[in-house]
Amino acid sequence: MTERFKNHIDGEWVDAISGAVFENRNPSDVNEVIGLFPRSGKEDVEAAVSSARSALSAWKSLTPLERGNIVFEAGRIMTGRKKELAESLSRENGKTVKGALGDVQSGIDMAYFAAGEARRWYGKTTHSGLKKRFAMTKRYPVGVVGIITSWNFPMAITSWKTFPALVCGNTVILKSEENTPETAVRFVRIMEEAGLPKGVLNLIHGFGPEAGEALTLHPDVAMVSFTGSSGVGKIIGKNCAGRLAKTSLELGGKNAVIIMEDADIELAADGVVCGAFSISGQRCTATSRVIAHEAVYGEFVKKLLDKTSKQKIGPGSDDSSDITPLISKKQFDRVMGYVERAKKEGARILTGGERLIGGVYDKGYYIAPTVIDNVSHDMEIAREEVFGPVLVVFKASSYEDAVRIHNLSPYGLSASLFTKDVNRAFLFFDDVDAGVCYINAPTFGSEPHLPFGGVKNSGLGYREAGWAAIEAFSEVKTLYVDYSAKIQNVQFERKD
Ligand code: NAD
Repeated sequence: MTERFKNHIDGEWVDAISGAVFENRNPSDVNEVIGLFPRSGKEDVEAAVSSARSALSAWKSLTPLERGNIVFEAGRIMTGRKKELAESLSRENGKTVKGALGDVQSGIDMAYFAAGEARRWYGKTTHSGLKKRFAMTKRYPVGVVGIITSWNFPMAITSWKTFPALVCGNTVILKSEENTPETAVRFVRIMEEAGLPKGVLNLIHGFGPEAGEALTLHPDVAMVSFTGSSGVGKIIGKNCAGRLAKTSLELGGKNAVIIMEDADIELAADGVVCGAFSISGQRCTATSRVIAHEAVYGEFVKKLLDKTSKQKIGPGSDDSSDITPLISKKQFDRVMGYVERAKKEGARILTGGERLIGGVYDKGYYIAPTVIDNVSHDMEIAREEVFGPVLVVFKASSYEDAVRIHNLSPYGLSASLFTKDVNRAFLFFDDVDAGVCYINAPTFGSEPHLPFGGVKNSGLGYREAGWAAIEAFSEVKTLYVDYSAKIQNVQFERKD
């Protein structure tokens, strides 16, 4: 019988109040139903927020150290359960178990990092402009935080947000992504086992316009931390701005690799193939544009096509697959729509551009890795995030031309430069509109102890991860102590 999963509210595992459910299917075999999950609505969100509100006072009165110890314990449990977590993640997400292990590892790293940050939740002290007055800042929780996640890195994204939010003393309502809700269930079970008091972390499953939207509009949710598309980010930004709630939006990308004439072309081609096509390009930091110097353009494209043709495309259940299926039919239709419109606008498909069929391919949605040229910047395929195994290639006449092409994008998440010239490498950091920059590496590969996020349409609010996560999930209070035994006022005119 199909397993029936539940929401987690006030320490209890419960169905949606309406009793409605939705199915979760395996992208590597869409006939396999993994489980039934509550299709939550406004009333479930209401219950979850009420639980988080009630738990807040006791949770924030613990020391950061005590909260950090629970998060540390969660990291320890996750470490012991890596394989099991990766296997279920692979089943619902479609990436290989090997890939899923990386997703889980990123969650573990964040648990230990956030637990460590609990021990250095620093404020600042500084001199006052007045005599016998002490001035300092201290950090406090924001309050009840809503977390809305994406399916592509379900354990990493959930951990990157939830662990720092909890360490900072917030209580949380986690809205799982509808394609990967089981990973969220496993995450919450681990937090329970680690000793998290009831009501501190609540889980609701369901769809964006229903459960998600209700969470963003709830007056008691002081902050919403979101990872997803720029389109939905704009809706959430508007909903939160309308009631002056804090937001952190991690959004899409149209990430580019620039290849200079002095680059190691073999290395660059390996980096581009991996960045563009692994997990079928379903990364916010996937490489979706290459800008190659005209002196090496021909050589690079030849190597790129050769390496692309050698990629093994297969299900997540086969660890030797380089490229795994798309998450859903909806995502498949979306990606093919972009490819078809690009063709109509005059772009040329150098390889791929079609659905793979036969054998294991009939059990999921696979698109052959696609390389497109003959593209101009006013075309949709040059500007919009595809979120599939689709790469567009441009030719540049110089470094300056490559940077100009790079910065035409409305997005600015990650960027990479392949070069052997150290001066160019540092100039690149100054010149490109991107939140994360790499030299001689693919456009992905963020580490949990460093900040992550983008500029332009790729994000708004705060950086995720690293010390920036602690800033995002806490509020600064400025504190003065006057020990002069008289009323001093900094706004009075001073004789200096
Ligand atoms: P999506 O925006 O459609 O959905 C993301 C989440 O938002 C889901 O949980 C969904 O239920 C919820 N949602 C949808 N509509 C909502 C609404 N009106 N109100 C509240 N919540 C709503 O994104 P997707 O297509 O599932 O995920 C892929 C996108 O995520 C890509 O654009 C990708 O670049 C982005 N992403 C960004 C990062 C990052 O850190 N910058 C990381 C991973 C993915």
